[in-house]
Amino acid sequence: MNTEPNMTQPPIPQEIVEEASARLTAERTRLVHQLQEIGATEHGELRSDVEFGDGGFADAAAATAERTEALGLAETLAQQVAAIDEALDLIAEGRYGYCVRCGSAMSPARIEARPESVLCVECKNRQ
Ligand SMILES: [Zn+2]
Repeated sequence: MNTEPNMTQPPIPQEIVEEASARLTAERTRLVHQLQEIGATEHGELRSDVEFGDGGFADAAAATAERTEALGLAETLAQQVAAIDEALDLIAEGRYGYCVRCGSAMSPARIEARPESVLCVECKNRQ
């Protein structure tokens, strides 16, 4: 599905790519830590050894509600990790900064605002 970068357009300055890479890596660490705290894997699956509910009462409904909430949060966090991984892959391949859909170079301002972006503003708006 990825479009080849349009290399006739000026590439994103290296220092901006490096800054984005550092920010993405830090953000990924933070997200993975949050996932661990709620007892989930990087893929947003809850570990089976994590117990919900306070254990004091046999309150299965509360434990289920807590589990559902954790699962929803884990899913959101895992999606953010996946988006960061996609951007980091593009950096590793030297394609970062080009929209994966239309191939046009993204503005440094967009990358600084949202380093995990892999779509240009036009393609994002068309989603
Ligand atoms: Zn685009």
